[in-house]
Amino acid sequence: MVWVHEAMLEDVGEIILDTETIQKRVAVLAETISRDYEGKNLIMICVLKGSMFFLADLIRKISIPVTLDFIGISSYGEATRTSGVVKITKDLEENIEGLDVLIVEDIVDTGLTLSYLINALKLRKPASIRICCLLDKTAHRLVDIPIDYRGFYIEDSFVVGYGLDFQDKYRHLPFVCVLKQEVIERQRKKL
Ligand code: 5GP
Repeated sequence: MVWVHEAMLEDVGEIILDTETIQKRVAVLAETISRDYEGKNLIMICVLKGSMFFLADLIRKISIPVTLDFIGISSYGEATRTSGVVKITKDLEENIEGLDVLIVEDIVDTGLTLSYLINALKLRKPASIRICCLLDKTAHRLVDIPIDYRGFYIEDSFVVGYGLDFQDKYRHLPFVCVLKQEVIERQRKKL
């Protein structure tokens, strides 16, 4: 039984992906990744903060040697949409030259954030770069991003939970859901 504060649940609209569905899919992704990277120098890069739970669950199911690093990215935009202007707020600690980089991202929407990140990391001469994302929201895609490992396609709605936030809250919800519209409106008015 998962404990979530009642006040948080009051803000929750539809649950899009429940905990069990997420965990089953993560296990399949980990198995595929483990097979594909057998004999390679895999480094998984967690894009902070949204991917932290996805990465944590995924990496613990990887059955081959793997290293881990974190990168912090902030993109400027309104409350629920990115502008594509991206900044690295926390850089990697490892030198990725010659390594097989797997970027682990929470959600791809326009694709602008990942496009920036892929280009920035390519300059560091890794042996390869691939993308693993939990959620693929194609409705507003502006840049074609080659997603190698995908958790789920989702419809065009703003989702939170399992790492994803709205104004830095709701990340700890153990499922992916939409917020009630009134919650988003309430927050917008406060800004
Ligand atoms: P993109 O650059 O692909 O448009 O957006 C990527 C980033 O925007 C994600 O890493 C995430 O931070 C944010 N984002 C896009 N869609 C959603 C969403 O539905 N919910 C949340 N919480 N963040 C989103």
